[in-house]
Amino acid sequence: MQEVDVCVVGAGPVGGTLACRLAAGGARVAVIDRADLPPMEHPDFDGRAYAVAAGSRRLLEAAGLWAKLPLPVCPIEDIRVSDGKVGLPASKLHLHFDHREAGDEPFGWMVEARSVRVALNAHLRDLPTLQVHAPAEARVTREADGAVVEVIGGPTFRCKLVVAAEGRQSALRQQAGIKVTTIPYKQRGLVAAIAHEKPHRNVALEHFLPAGPFAQLPMVGIEGAPNVSAIVWTEGAALADRIYGLDDDVFAREVTRRMGSHLGAIRPIGRRWKYPLSAMHAQRYVDTRLVLVGDAAHGIHPIAGQGLNLGFRDVIALSTLVLDAIRAGGDVGAPALLAEYQQQRRGANLLMLGATDALDRLFSTDNPLVRGVRDLGIAGVERLPALKRLFVRQAMGAGTAPDVLG
Ligand SMILES: Cc1cc2nc3c(=O)[nH]c(=O)nc-3n(C[C@H](O)[C@H](O)[C@H](O)COP(=O)(O)OP(=O)(O)OC[C@H]3O[C@@H](n4cnc5c(N)ncnc54)[C@H](O)[C@@H]3O)c2cc1C
Repeated sequence: MQEVDVCVVGAGPVGGTLACRLAAGGARVAVIDRADLPPMEHPDFDGRAYAVAAGSRRLLEAAGLWAKLPLPVCPIEDIRVSDGKVGLPASKLHLHFDHREAGDEPFGWMVEARSVRVALNAHLRDLPTLQVHAPAEARVTREADGAVVEVIGGPTFRCKLVVAAEGRQSALRQQAGIKVTTIPYKQRGLVAAIAHEKPHRNVALEHFLPAGPFAQLPMVGIEGAPNVSAIVWTEGAALADRIYGLDDDVFAREVTRRMGSHLGAIRPIGRRWKYPLSAMHAQRYVDTRLVLVGDAAHGIHPIAGQGLNLGFRDVIALSTLVLDAIRAGGDVGAPALLAEYQQQRRGANLLMLGATDALDRLFSTDNPLVRGVRDLGIAGVERLPALKRLFVRQAMGAGTAPDVLG
């Protein structure tokens, strides 16, 4: 039986980063994932690119991961929000967010999911107080004074806290009897990369269409394609399935009909991905010696690219509480610590879930009345610099950074 402070079950971007951050702070950590980690580095495993907010970047730096990202990241310096209809120019009313309205830092950085994976896989094996078991199943027994985590076919750990970081289908959450509230969207998220004629100038576009938002996110160019963007395209399920299978030429035409022609001629590069979309929220984040983080606790619409950032904010809050407790010689799984974590994160995550859900409902409609009210709102925000600055600071994850560095 080995003693560790924390066992993290799930080595996805959230669980993996938490494990690295805790170990970098001196905690003894075991992380167990049921999948093998190296195959996750393959370009075909996950085509997503994350919009990493400033607060999340500081977490990745503190965890030792940012410096290990193997692929260049692209700053998002401006965000343009518009609405319209497929095949028609965007409405004249739009919001333009300039990062200089909130300081010198970009809104965020586009980081490929694969790049995060490569950095995680390298770093997880580098930290002296961290051990990784993958692929492996974990059998967890929790009691009031601690937990035992048995790695099937491997070692057994005694710890004070078990972290459920296994994503949306979290088995530990289900075993603890924690219920989730789910909002299904009849939409899919189509994800792809496109090469375009004109440079994107580090501007991201969020164009709201009746079937759902269409996002173009700036990426670093590659050989043979100096101008590249990622697209996250929300579409009704049946049409999304058809679009997914279109020939490149027709796909490119459909992209242009939605995105407009401001980037010149476009062509798809690489393969496409499609994800069913839903939102979900756990009714509790904690149980005896157990805490939920990331998608195990919450999942939101990708409309604002905030899903992983919320998970990273969970990591900032939890790692700060755990490392403080270790420094003070306290109990890292004590009920008061877990209650404090839940208090810091549950309301904030629920707020973001509600906001992204409301945005999707507000914009994914053709109702002229709703469109009229919405355009008034867009014009109002554009004219109120203080409100715009507030949005900008929120998008950048302001307020969370000092926690991790403190
Ligand atoms: C189309 C789309 C676009 C998105 N774009 C963005 C974006 O731009 N920015 C952003 O911030 N977020 C974005 N997100 C959300 C983001 O992808 C998720 O929030 C993020 O992947 C959650 O990470 P996680 O580590 O919590 O869970 P996961 O990524 O699901 O990882 C869970 C891990 O746990 C392991 N596991 C599962 N079950 C077990 C078990 N029983 N035992 C052990 N291990 C287990 C799995 O193998 C996996 O490694 C997007 C989502 C979608 C669908």
